[in-house]
Amino acid sequence: MAKQNRCSFCGRAENEVKMLIYGIDGYICDECAEQAITIVKEARASRKQDVKLENLPKPQEIKAYLDKYVIGQDAAKVALSVAVYNHYKRLNHRDEKDDVELEKSNIIMVGSTGTGKTLLARTIAKMLLVPFAIVDATVLTEAGYVGEDVESLLARLLQAADGDVKLAEKGIVFIDEIDKIARKGDNPSITRDVSGEGVQQGLLKLLEGSVVNVPPQGGRKHPEQQFIQVDTRNILFICGGAFDGIEKRIAQRLNTHVVGFDAARNVAKIDKSNMMQYIAPMDLKSFGLIPEIIGRLPILTHLEPLDREALRSILTEPKNSIVKQYKKMFEIDGVKLTFEEEVLDYVVDKAIEFKLGARGLRSLIEVIMMKPMFEVPSTDVKEFVVTLDFARQQVESANMAVLKESTEDK
Ligand code: ADP
Repeated sequence: MAKQNRCSFCGRAENEVKMLIYGIDGYICDECAEQAITIVKEARASRKQDVKLENLPKPQEIKAYLDKYVIGQDAAKVALSVAVYNHYKRLNHRDEKDDVELEKSNIIMVGSTGTGKTLLARTIAKMLLVPFAIVDATVLTEAGYVGEDVESLLARLLQAADGDVKLAEKGIVFIDEIDKIARKGDNPSITRDVSGEGVQQGLLKLLEGSVVNVPPQGGRKHPEQQFIQVDTRNILFICGGAFDGIEKRIAQRLNTHVVGFDAARNVAKIDKSNMMQYIAPMDLKSFGLIPEIIGRLPILTHLEPLDREALRSILTEPKNSIVKQYKKMFEIDGVKLTFEEEVLDYVVDKAIEFKLGARGLRSLIEVIMMKPMFEVPSTDVKEFVVTLDFARQQVESANMAVLKESTEDK
């Protein structure tokens, strides 16, 4: 009888198993492969659970890591680094018998669209030792309406923890676009505010810390569905939002407060180009967040608007800056790509002129690079220099309306 191939792990022959996967020097059967997956998952989970204070990155190390990818935004970086470090500390402390209970401090980051809120969240996720999920508040609606229930936020965290509830309960959730669930206007309307106060009340339960029934697949709850119970007491929530138009409210508040003897001097001190730095909890309230939610987001930080200098740095400095990415792409084809300095200044000018923000930088570079990307790989060119004339030509022949649309909010 011909010699049969056998699983190199359990030794069973090919005809004794459902499937045998071939490797270079051996075989693995379906059952052993499944077992291996379980072992790997458990090992990963226990590594994540092992959040020992002495091995943890300190706030300054966390910030230094963020600095590699995100330009500026020091206030937000410091707040995030401290919050994440404190989160680890609290997780450690929980195991000790002590009468001082460390309360968590959820964060809210306010900054115009395209200033780096999501980028900060994504970057910090890469170095975290606990599960992390980014979710969008815009999909949430009150129970009973089309959309997702608030609990579905936790389903994402559960997924990030590979279904391990204990691990998910130590995780961090980034809720993007929190401003979209603000109450629309001060008067309670006769029609129900589907995505307003009701959703905020739901979210409040999660922020406060309670045991929540989570639909395993996320989405909506069905009566016949099996729920997973998740305790949110130790989950850290980081919220982000653009709060469009909040600067006006800040300005109003500052103006009404600085009346009287000192008024003239105080008004002079206000930097009108960056009102966001004066944000206070009461501005969030006047924007339509309920006070209870604001109270549960005790750390309020802001992102600066990106000025010319910041935009210029974003093009070249971050570890995975757009210019570095393009250079790498050409390098793979054996082509040395260089941008004249004037090209980069020109791209920044155009991004400002058309109010495209940081997202526009990528779109502009893409427009400029489309032709060479299409043509160069089929030639034996070894070097390509992007000159100002060339860049201008490409941008001027592009349809700016399309460019604008492609950078509009996600
Ligand atoms: P939002 O504040 O709307 O969440 P994002 O974080 O999504 O903005 O930023 C959009 C893009 O703009 C990012 O992917 C990144 O390429 C670029 N960007 C924005 N802000 C910065 C920054 N401070 N440093 C580096 N890149 C940035």
